[in-house]
Amino acid sequence: MQTLTQRLKEAGIAFHVNVPLCQYTTFHIGGAASCMAFPKTAEQIRLAAEAAASADLPCRILGNGSNILAPDEGVDGLVICMKHMQKCAFYDGFFVAEAGKNLSLFLREAARAGYGGAEELCGIPATVGGAVCMNAGAFGKEISAFVREVQVLDPQSMTFRRLAPEALSFAYRHSSLQESGEILCSASIALSPTDTDDALRRMQDFTRRRQAAQPRQPSAGSFFRREPDCIPARLMDLCGLKGMRVGDAAISEKHAGFIVNLAAATAADVRALAQAAERAVQDRFGVRMCPEVKIW
Ligand SMILES: Cc1cc2nc3c(=O)[nH]c(=O)nc-3n(C[C@H](O)[C@H](O)[C@H](O)COP(=O)(O)OP(=O)(O)OC[C@H]3O[C@@H](n4cnc5c(N)ncnc54)[C@H](O)[C@@H]3O)c2cc1C
Repeated sequence: MQTLTQRLKEAGIAFHVNVPLCQYTTFHIGGAASCMAFPKTAEQIRLAAEAAASADLPCRILGNGSNILAPDEGVDGLVICMKHMQKCAFYDGFFVAEAGKNLSLFLREAARAGYGGAEELCGIPATVGGAVCMNAGAFGKEISAFVREVQVLDPQSMTFRRLAPEALSFAYRHSSLQESGEILCSASIALSPTDTDDALRRMQDFTRRRQAAQPRQPSAGSFFRREPDCIPARLMDLCGLKGMRVGDAAISEKHAGFIVNLAAATAADVRALAQAAERAVQDRFGVRMCPEVKIW
């Protein structure tokens, strides 16, 4: 750990040690990360990843923490937090947004500049990097439809690469970044000319629909993946699981697909509840549900 912090210091990268992950995840769950770095540039991401590799420590990437269940005992090694990678620029017909840019903020800024078409995604509590990694989507649209190119760091060679969307193997809530471990530094996003007021109104409408359908308690969104033969919220509802609890983790009364943290839920509570829901659905319908949430 000392080698890591020494290297981060030498590289001038902001970092903290023993950082409670519950403060960085929308579930508000998780013990301490031994070290969290806050790079401001792609080069600082590279230096941080290199520092972890040279200290032989694991390295994880954190966007807005809205799709992560962090363990109660915390995580060893380095967490690279993208919250200081917020820049966004407009070029002729496309935007380049850094990994930590808030997705909804990005969409609103683009609308004010007269570009849109992805209003459905407004309200997903994602960073641009997390949204691309998860191929976030809502109301029939996915971010993959708008990605023109991404800049990633390959953590094996520690070199930067530019990837076209075809190289990212986008599928439902999937991109190849989930397996390759490549770190997205920025994404070029192509939107279409639009009427600003109309786009802002549409975003407000989608956000309202989202608020009406989703619980307000801390969560990581839909806990299980939707598959062609498996709509977890519906199956869980049919099994009468709404309101089921383990400790302070509960299956939302409002939306059966959401596991929520009622107050002081632990990751162990959430895992036990998720397993109980999986068993109930498997027993009644013979369908195996798989988590969409990334369990660290
Ligand atoms: C209330 C609520 C509603 C939600 N609604 C939706 C919805 O409608 N549609 C939907 O698709 N999702 C939804 N989600 C889930 C979540 O918002 C998305 O999966 C989102 O894309 C995660 O983005 P993030 O920045 O929070 O990523 P994180 O949760 O921080 O990370 C998710 C994964 O991406 C990786 N990652 C993050 N940034 C990078 C990067 N720069 N480079 C490489 N890997 C990276 C992480 O390591 C992790 O494996 C919802 C969540 C909540 C809490």
